[in-house]
This record gives sequence, structure tokens and C-alpha cells, in this order.
Amino acid sequence: MDDQLARIDPTTDPSTAAVILRCMPNQVGPCPRCQGLTARCGPNAQVVCP
Ligand SMILES: [Zn+2]
Repeated sequence: MDDQLARIDPTTDPSTAAVILRCMPNQVGPCPRCQGLTARCGPNAQVVCP
């Protein structure tokens, strides 16, 4: 299963989410639509998850 693009539950630890998102923990933030964690800042920023 490739769950790389799956929504990341907001209770997920930011450092864990950062590994999944391949970004820094301080770039992780909640998606405004679904509250799932996404990379809000940085080179791979996605303000809204896929
Ligand atoms: Zn979302």
C-alpha cells in the first residue's frame, strides 16, 4: 500500500508527519479543509492536501 498521499490524521506527531511528508516538523500544519496534516511551508508546500 502506498499511503504517501493519504490524509495524515491531526493527532499524528508532527515529527512523524514530517517524515511522511518529507519536510521539516516546523513546516507541518493542518489542512484548512480536512484538518489532516500537510506540509504548509517549504519547497514541497501543499496548503491543502491532495
Ligand atoms: Zn485536507
